[in-house]
Amino acid sequence: MNKSTLESRLSAELAGIADLGLTRRRRVLESPCGRIATVDSREMLNFASNDYLGLAGNPEIAQAMADGAIKWGPGSGASHLVSGHLTPHATLEDEIAAFVGYPRALTFSTGYLANLSVTPTLAGRGDAVFADKLNHASLIDAMQLAKAQGADVQRYPHNDVVALEKMLAASSTSNKVIVTDAVFSMDGDLAPLPALFALAERYDAWLVIDDAHGFGVLGEHGRGSLSHFNLPSHPHILLMGTLGKAAGVGGAFVAGSDMAIEYLLQRGRSYIFTTAAPPAVACALSRSLQLIRDGDALRANLMARLGQLRDGLAGLPWRLLPSATAIQPLIVGANAAAVQLSTALWERGLWVPAIRPPTVPKDTARLRISVSAAHTEADIARLIDALKELA
Ligand SMILES: *Cc1c(COP(=O)(O)O)cnc(C)c1O
Repeated sequence: MNKSTLESRLSAELAGIADLGLTRRRRVLESPCGRIATVDSREMLNFASNDYLGLAGNPEIAQAMADGAIKWGPGSGASHLVSGHLTPHATLEDEIAAFVGYPRALTFSTGYLANLSVTPTLAGRGDAVFADKLNHASLIDAMQLAKAQGADVQRYPHNDVVALEKMLAASSTSNKVIVTDAVFSMDGDLAPLPALFALAERYDAWLVIDDAHGFGVLGEHGRGSLSHFNLPSHPHILLMGTLGKAAGVGGAFVAGSDMAIEYLLQRGRSYIFTTAAPPAVACALSRSLQLIRDGDALRANLMARLGQLRDGLAGLPWRLLPSATAIQPLIVGANAAAVQLSTALWERGLWVPAIRPPTVPKDTARLRISVSAAHTEADIARLIDALKELA
């Protein structure tokens, strides 16, 4: 094996990606995340972030982070189970558990790591995992890990509880895990959580819920999708939420019963074998959690902007998916047409990303419009006017 053989494989694959027009590029923001993003010295109106409550640029959270860094230092120094679990981490866990109404929570540095800890820890050899086909990539990777450990992994058609029930009924294993996004990240629609919970009860299965896009946005005081559906906290539900979207900082949590959380703490490899997040991040998140809890006005503004956008886009040639969340997908269809539309908006100072296969199914390339509580009525009107002009 020489260097050129190794590298020629990479260059061929990169050329293949380029030929398909699928090369990804990062844009450098010259400003903090907010409704306006400065890119190449231009001020762009930002419909591309997951900062649903406008907290990612919040000065009070930034101050809590700065104060936390001065008081607790810049780093945690170790994993949680060795010596990296500091008072701000312990406090944050308690606050999150109380907020979402579960006995206990664990925090992780990212949602990706949180998901890798849950399903593969609950399901190994001889167990079965049932996953929605449109689940987030991190849940798919978690599923692959469970599969590598010998679990039987099955994917059910999106939100199809009838198909799921057939799979559950046909499975002979006593340890079953149902895994779903609560709000699907590319469609903005909700999982039928009450029906999934009923199935979990009937077939004695764990229900793992990824509430990355519901936490902070939906439910009473932003408690998330379970609260939205009035579902009780239950020892067989593990609720994961991310803290880098509506919460505006970074990280994630998993909440559950005392025993389930203790089990993850003892066995979750992506919890155990990674350095704890800097304590200042936990300090920032405690402040963010207060702002979420007290953020009914932010959520009311977000819902008003969503209504304005949906009304304004009715009658345009593109199909707006039925979404009651901050993710508003406008289906364009062909890949090139979606990219063209996104580019035309960009030229008008509007940043709305085009999402193409394989991230979404073939022929459903779309604009993924992310609305935030930070957007004004005039911001939404500008986007509507631009899309009308381009229609
Ligand atoms: C963003 C996201 C994640 C990953 O969370 P990070 O904190 O960004 O790693 C997991 N699940 C869903 C549904 C997401 O949208």
